[in-house]
Amino acid sequence: METWIEADCPITDEPAARLEKTFGDYEEYRCPTCKHFRISGSAVESIKKYNVEAKLELLVLAKRLADPKGELPFVMNVD
Ligand SMILES: [Zn+2]
Repeated sequence: METWIEADCPITDEPAARLEKTFGDYEEYRCPTCKHFRISGSAVESIKKYNVEAKLELLVLAKRLADPKGELPFVMNVD
């Protein structure tokens, strides 16, 4: 069963829900602003130095790649 726990969104730093267990090197969130997305473990760390605008741009890019395939946006490390 999926368990969602309270967590801050790594993109917008607002209260969100994080999937407690994932089966890979990524985290999965549901955020009021960002909606449902995944982010790689390394990106969670590396985007901390970006401002919100830059982080949202990464999410928009991820959505643009995922939407045509009907997949969840997956924010990845861009360094
Ligand atoms: Zn968010």
